[in-house]
Amino acid sequence: MHEVNASYVDFHCHLDLYQEFEKIVADCEREKIDTLAVTTTPLAWPRNKQLMLGKKHPRPALGLHPQLVKERSHEIDLWDKYLSEARYVGEVGLDAGPANYSSYELQQEIFTHILKSCSNAGKKVLSIHSVRSVPKVLELLDKHLTPNNCKFVLHWFSGSIGNAKAAVELGAYFSLNSQMIRNERTLNIIKQIPLDRILTETDGPFTERSGMPSHPRDVEQTVGELSSVLRYEHAELKSIISTNLQALLL
Ligand code: MN
Repeated sequence: MHEVNASYVDFHCHLDLYQEFEKIVADCEREKIDTLAVTTTPLAWPRNKQLMLGKKHPRPALGLHPQLVKERSHEIDLWDKYLSEARYVGEVGLDAGPANYSSYELQQEIFTHILKSCSNAGKKVLSIHSVRSVPKVLELLDKHLTPNNCKFVLHWFSGSIGNAKAAVELGAYFSLNSQMIRNERTLNIIKQIPLDRILTETDGPFTERSGMPSHPRDVEQTVGELSSVLRYEHAELKSIISTNLQALLL
């Protein structure tokens, strides 16, 4: 039996990049949307932490985005300073796309440091970016993240089916968004992911719904879209995703 009053899950959203940051945090709490508020720089941590203190549904994550590593690798010292305050880590990872390839070596150093630090600290949950770099991300996760109960979620996965299977073997969860469902290639991968490893996300405000930046509540529609492609009842899939979140956070 699944819980009847499960919450919706938006496990990757940049709440602090919305103009109405405070309002959207309050929306998540009031509407019971379990939202991972990822950040791109550790400079954003104190404000995110303060605003979500005592709230049940929005949860702040300590990040250093791979696309910012070229300019901000020195912020890793600040990231280290805050790690003991953070249960969630993200957005972190690697980006080997053309615009970020010049910092790819440096990104690997930073990401390795982040994974080692999380492993040493223990009990962290990571939201990971892996554009054009899934095999390297998996290699580093395998090497550096195994001990101490750390878990990870691959956000907006865009690797191959083989990569997805390797990631599942390593214990990955996947946060899925509506754009992935509408893309034929990523939809085929979604269909191969075990049901007990899926979560939903918006990646707002970097995605849109009806011409407006996505709101965390839009994951309700994402669950609807997933339920039709995976041939599940909406309520059943919502419960499964909520159960997956509880398992991830154990
Ligand atoms: Mn993101």
